Amino acid sequence: MLKARTQNPVQTTDFCFTRVMFDVSSGQVVKMADLPVADDMDFMGGIGRSFKIVADYDVDDPFAPEAPLVLNTGCLTGTAFMTGLRAYFTAYSPLKRTLTGKPMAGWSAMSGSFGRKLMSTGMGDLVLVGAADAPKILVITQGSDGPQVSLKPAPEGMVGAQVSERMKILNAQYNNPEKRQFPAHFAVIGPAGEHWQTVWMANIVGSTQEMVMTGEEKYRFAGRLGMGALLGCKNILGIVAHAAEDVRREGDERLKAIDREIGRGEQSRGFRNPHNNDGLGGTGKNEHMLDVVGVLPFKNFEPRGENLAVPVHLETMRDENPAFVVIDRGCFGCEIACHQDFYAAPEGGRDPDWRVARQNYGAYLGRYEYEPMELSGPNLGVLDPHDNFILARLDDELGFDTISVNVMLGFVMDYNSRGEKPIGGGVQFGDVAGAARLKEDIAYGRETLLGKGTKAISEAVGGQGFAMHSKGVEYPAYLPQTNPGYPFALAGGHMSMRTFLLYVTDPDCQPESADYWVEQITKNGWAAIAKDLHGGCLFAFTPPPQVAEGISSAYGVPFTAERVLDATYRAHLLGMALEMKQGATRDDYEMPREVFAGERKGDLPGANFLSRELFEEIRDRSFDYFKSELTRLGYDRYIA
Ligand code: SF4
Repeated sequence: MLKARTQNPVQTTDFCFTRVMFDVSSGQVVKMADLPVADDMDFMGGIGRSFKIVADYDVDDPFAPEAPLVLNTGCLTGTAFMTGLRAYFTAYSPLKRTLTGKPMAGWSAMSGSFGRKLMSTGMGDLVLVGAADAPKILVITQGSDGPQVSLKPAPEGMVGAQVSERMKILNAQYNNPEKRQFPAHFAVIGPAGEHWQTVWMANIVGSTQEMVMTGEEKYRFAGRLGMGALLGCKNILGIVAHAAEDVRREGDERLKAIDREIGRGEQSRGFRNPHNNDGLGGTGKNEHMLDVVGVLPFKNFEPRGENLAVPVHLETMRDENPAFVVIDRGCFGCEIACHQDFYAAPEGGRDPDWRVARQNYGAYLGRYEYEPMELSGPNLGVLDPHDNFILARLDDELGFDTISVNVMLGFVMDYNSRGEKPIGGGVQFGDVAGAARLKEDIAYGRETLLGKGTKAISEAVGGQGFAMHSKGVEYPAYLPQTNPGYPFALAGGHMSMRTFLLYVTDPDCQPESADYWVEQITKNGWAAIAKDLHGGCLFAFTPPPQVAEGISSAYGVPFTAERVLDATYRAHLLGMALEMKQGATRDDYEMPREVFAGERKGDLPGANFLSRELFEEIRDRSFDYFKSELTRLGYDRYIA
């Protein structure tokens, strides 16, 4: 939360935020201070501030008690700016590592309602160090003098439970659904995070307003980079953000117009249901869009044709399969309603009128979101819709980052298909039962290598040439063969470097031109992380002028698009400096050998342009450019 330091603030530096340093080992607040906003990175928040915090730590082991885990929000989180809901977890990641094995800084973000409640407690940045000697929950409450933080023993039944059970326990203890009182929201780890020693790809699951009100398994996720493992190593099973009073900046008239545009305008059309202001279907539409041109990840990122996954396209399941009823739902106050929730058709079949159908449906089956469905479906050779839901939903219950765990499984299946000594029980493409069993074995610590991620596995058993990651971060469901920008993503490959769809969607794309890619990486791609400062959602696609006007409206101070972009660029460059602080060199900005033209996965009918030579030119020029830029801004002071 940002608080005014003067009665009539006229500029961003008239605000301050509360930073709390909490030692989990002793259960005590070590330091709590109101810090004045020094610059626009401070004001916008999120990674703009948390990168500065982690820059002051030297971390060799991400699980060491002294390694920090930072929790915060953006300046628009919890305001009336539509989709302003995000909470951020920042740390040195167990997955994202240099070639020499040092952990690199990164973050993960979640929507849902946890962030807005956290903001309402008065928290600015919470820095967690230390580790508890027994399983605990961390409770952050709204106090008259600012946030109060305490540790409590984990409630009975939480240890070893799956995510839904953990949420149920906390919801019963801190909310009162019968009286419709919901002062609390939650961020929990699953069994995967509890077994952090062997599961580095654990996520943190956040509650939604729908979940606390109905009890349905509707969550949002801080998925990437193993933040759940880091919470788990501190022996914290869940965080409660408890605020009896919702604090919310309503803004002036401008915010109403902005929200109308965000919720119903062209910018979010791609993420809305067709019944919602002519939407294009949500993230799930990407599956069909990529499959028709032969670039849908299939059996570990190797599509050898087009239309390989028609039965599990969103459109097939939604429009042609009478077994399902689809209802679009959204996070608190969000009219985009990007969640495409699938329910079983009721007895007697689904009503042909969608308005009637959405009132009469059977059991909840799962949410069709592109990444989890694609990577646990076609990329594992799974083409049955029900099996696809089972595998995707299991990740949520066990507390896995759905991208990392399924890319890792694709690697294991690929490895086993090549006649090597089998790993993971010999699981093969299309083996749903085997994949489910393996996920459970990993989450509960019975399988001790695979949960450490694709990089660690390939270093242990071989197969680096088809281990689909850069810097240890598994690729999202967009072919690396079409995206030489992946190595320059600071966190998730598509959330922090927006070059992943250019090959398909940019009519001016020149795939064989190094100039084109260098320009996209160094001048545009990094701008995607503006949302990781200000607290709005990616799917709102808010352009910088809209963000600036939203900030101005909510806080009553001037702000500009140029300032949004400048703070974002600085955060990107600081993030790269933090990679180099850990020893990353240009050789760390790498991609697996088989994706290059002339190699097994590099000569696909749908994509075959990325030669090793082209990649190296793009990589070297981008690296040199960013290196000189971070020196220009003085961030080289972090590099030894
Ligand atoms: S766009 Fe989707 S994820 Fe983002 S706030 Fe709206 S409903 Fe939530």
